[in-house]
Amino acid sequence: MPINIGIPRALLYHEFGSLWTAFFSKLGVPFTLSAETNTQILDHGTMLAIDESCLPLKIYLGHIASLLPKCTHIFAPRIAGYHNNFFLCAKFAGLPDIIRNTFSLADNQLIAPNIENKSQSTQLKAIYSICQTIGISKISGCLAYHQAKQTWKNHNSAPTHSNTQIAIIGHSYLLNDAFFCRDILTVLKKRNLTMITSEHIPSKVLYQQAAIFRPDIYWQLSAKLAGATRYFSQLSEIKGIIMVSSFGCGPDSLMNEYLEHHVLKNSNTPYLIINLDEHTGSAGIVTRVEAFLDLMNWRSES
Ligand code: SF4
Repeated sequence: MPINIGIPRALLYHEFGSLWTAFFSKLGVPFTLSAETNTQILDHGTMLAIDESCLPLKIYLGHIASLLPKCTHIFAPRIAGYHNNFFLCAKFAGLPDIIRNTFSLADNQLIAPNIENKSQSTQLKAIYSICQTIGISKISGCLAYHQAKQTWKNHNSAPTHSNTQIAIIGHSYLLNDAFFCRDILTVLKKRNLTMITSEHIPSKVLYQQAAIFRPDIYWQLSAKLAGATRYFSQLSEIKGIIMVSSFGCGPDSLMNEYLEHHVLKNSNTPYLIINLDEHTGSAGIVTRVEAFLDLMNWRSES
């Protein structure tokens, strides 16, 4: 079979997907993106994963299962952290090993560059390891990466916002996956509410906001959530905050509790925490969001 790299549309694809796809496009290497998350992907991933896995990891495995029959390789970088002083949770650091064990893949089927931090040397080593696996010259790889990074930066420039009423906070792979958030978005649209997500705030601002928490937050994605919560809770134009979390997430289970007690309860902004799992039904989410919005309106009118 001619080379075809499978890219799962899950987890950090929702932060770096446009960088990865631009990179392989510029190299002229064929790749296949998995479909948007759907029930079949969810069910397959849930069956493959161990019970203790978080929901996003289950989904990720489902995406890989859907790619394997049509792809020669799977692109699954091992990312331990990409911001100074922070680390991603252990699931990210162990991702290639989880995939190898779940699907019994041969080493050369997995393109798993190692990203320890955002240093230039780490990025170069990662490019070289990808080039070696797919038989491309290092120079072509570096050139393609440089161009792709530019495309990605332009793609990620933060939009301006005004008259925002509802803030939605959560990991990018929950908020940007329509399968998880479609019900929340549908209710907000129906009520004609404008909204902003933590994804719209520049990372620099989120980390600055998170820097005031003591002891320091260890997990990088938790720091972003904490920064977004503090940032939104201080804005008068934000009339309500919805935190979206997933069942089985260790860092979120601690962080949500902490933020609820130390940030949200001390602010005047109404908030709702939604925990998603593979059994979460649309009706339950819609009812909770609608009730929250009613309460929010009632409070601002009284
Ligand atoms: S941060 Fe939580 S949701 Fe994300 S991969 Fe780790 S355990 Fe799963």
